Amino acid sequence: MYAFDYQRASDAKAAVAALNADSDAKYLAGGQSLLPTMRLRLAQPSQLIDVTRIAALKEIKVDAKTVTIGAAVCHADVAGNADIQRVLPGLAGLAANIGDRQVRALGTIGGSLANNDPAACYPAAVLGLNATVVTDRRRITADDFFVGMYETALEPDELITAVEFPVPERSAYEKFHNPASHFALVGVFVAKGADGVRVAVTGAASSVFRATALEQALSANFTQAAARAVTIDASTLNTDMHASADYRGHLIPVLAARAVGGISSGG
Ligand SMILES: Cc1cc2nc3c(=O)[nH]c(=O)nc-3n(C[C@H](O)[C@H](O)[C@H](O)COP(=O)(O)OP(=O)(O)OC[C@H]3O[C@@H](n4cnc5c(N)ncnc54)[C@H](O)[C@@H]3O)c2cc1C
Repeated sequence: MYAFDYQRASDAKAAVAALNADSDAKYLAGGQSLLPTMRLRLAQPSQLIDVTRIAALKEIKVDAKTVTIGAAVCHADVAGNADIQRVLPGLAGLAANIGDRQVRALGTIGGSLANNDPAACYPAAVLGLNATVVTDRRRITADDFFVGMYETALEPDELITAVEFPVPERSAYEKFHNPASHFALVGVFVAKGADGVRVAVTGAASSVFRATALEQALSANFTQAAARAVTIDASTLNTDMHASADYRGHLIPVLAARAVGGISSGG
């Protein structure tokens, strides 16, 4: 690891000012993605600006229509929050199955979204639930946020402050995990709400995407059989040492059907 400076930001404005004062600085949240990258000398920030002590970024607010989660809330706190479990169990369950205990205790929703790992779980929930990413300067809809592999719509100095999830009628996430890392070999988030059915897939391609064929099938007939009957075009999916594109394509409707089957009303 290369040498670097470290400072804790007291509020969002101070964090952004600190980043702008040093063009090679980076925000630090749970460090579960950034620190391994630095250890491998794939990143060399001059300074880390820790955003996890900013009180406003640690808040969770839940009402009947919206779940708002501060960017620095760790996965374990989403998984263990009784209100989120009640209104949005699909999201609480997703957070409970990220990585291992250490990753869940340190990793944050903001860090996960800013990183946009192609196999990360939260991007599927954000896209599937049509959430809004709130930053220090604007609101970005899920459809506009994820740009490509490890790439988002964020400006280099832009700080995610919170994520707003509309509460759907029903939602669920099913993941076929890589046993070594627990990242998604394929993960599918299904949500049914006022705007219809949305299905978001992670792990299968260079970035999270909406499976429109499944959305259409489930909008017409919200059953496991309808999901299973969909064929996914695997030509743009990933092949790697863990699975072929065809296998990933096969898993998508299987996991969507499981999500439909496991879905609970009220979230
Ligand atoms: C062994 C292991 C297993 C894992 N398994 C899974 C899994 O099953 N599913 C899954 O989804 N993830 C998994 N992860 C990743 C984990 O969820 C990380 O927590 C997440 O990717 C990054 O969050 P972080 O808070 O640690 O961010 P950091 O590593 O601190 O930062 C990541 C990036 O985001 C930027 N950043 C951080 N916060 C903000 C912010 N508020 N605004 C703007 N930019 C910001 C940083 O500058 C950096 O570029 C795993 C990680 C490990 C090490």
